[in-house]
Amino acid sequence: MNRKDIIIIHGTDYKEMAKMVMDRADVAGDIGDLNKKIALKPNLVVARDPSSGATTHKELLAGAIEYLQEHGFKNITIMEGSWVGDNTQSAFTAAGYRQISTKYNVPLVDLQRDSYTEYEAKGMEIAICDKAMEVDYMINMPVLKGHCQTTITCALKNNKGVMPNREKRRFHTMGLHKPIAHLNTVCRNDFILVDNICGDLDFEEGGNPVVMNRVLGFKDPVLCDSYVCDCMGYKVDDIPYIRMAEKLGVGSTDTEHANFIYINEDKNAKSKFRMTHRVQNLAKFADPKDACSACYGSLIYALDRLSDAGKLRGKKNLVCIGQGYKGETGEIGVGQCTCGFKKSLKGCPPKAIDIVNFLEEEWK
Ligand code: SF4
Repeated sequence: MNRKDIIIIHGTDYKEMAKMVMDRADVAGDIGDLNKKIALKPNLVVARDPSSGATTHKELLAGAIEYLQEHGFKNITIMEGSWVGDNTQSAFTAAGYRQISTKYNVPLVDLQRDSYTEYEAKGMEIAICDKAMEVDYMINMPVLKGHCQTTITCALKNNKGVMPNREKRRFHTMGLHKPIAHLNTVCRNDFILVDNICGDLDFEEGGNPVVMNRVLGFKDPVLCDSYVCDCMGYKVDDIPYIRMAEKLGVGSTDTEHANFIYINEDKNAKSKFRMTHRVQNLAKFADPKDACSACYGSLIYALDRLSDAGKLRGKKNLVCIGQGYKGETGEIGVGQCTCGFKKSLKGCPPKAIDIVNFLEEEWK
């Protein structure tokens, strides 16, 4: 897999999707030696079920482990340290990881209980847990979601979990952005398997999941987080740590020249999730007919950006979306399926940032 690649798969069989993304990326070939120490680093910021939009789905761990074990890798662990206000042991239980650990005989490592060492991170001293630094190949498994302080969170910020609690506290006193960028100059990001199943609209601890039903694969954590901005309707410069990480040589923000690899097409899969009140309020501005999850999720994120900017006030025209509009005419629609409309945004699915720009222009 190339650092410019972005692998995307849609569906609801999350375990198989994880395996297919890793297969397409040839993670086994990238790791090489079967004796290497491999770690899976999910996001277990809090002790909540992944359906809340906060934590990594256990099915992705199961898929990653099956893929690795089928390729002969045996030295695998799942490691995480929850945020300061929660306890990793409770988080392992709440997210169903204990069953995964038992089923596949893969140990759970609680980094909140680990020792740590200080590292020079391009001009900053940062303490990182010893077990995380002993790993030969780290699979970062973040959730694509919003964050109340840094606006978005995905690959770069997920690595806060490999630090001791005292360092997490210190990061907050430094405003998060700069230390997150520096942290990623020393911690490992060998492969990034993103849980884009139902990440939260704007809070790290979940509560308003937005269903996208996707799994994504990256080699470059900066490219990953830049793509997340597109998906959630932000500009890269809205999130300072992404550009800072690029300047420190961690990766590239250039999604324009990324190589998109779509393993399958989005299908109008039945959602297993119920919309929260907040998401329902945004959905009032949409008129969906058989919309694919990622398409509808992109529209919800875009409507949230417009709501933040006060641009939904007084809007009466609903935005049509979905396969049910194929061949139909109408006023305003997003996605290729509404190409017969007077005003329609191309894309299948369109990105939230493009929907924001399109609706801002049309609703002027
Ligand atoms: S444009 Fe149509 S087919 Fe494409 S993702 Fe949207 S709803 Fe699905």
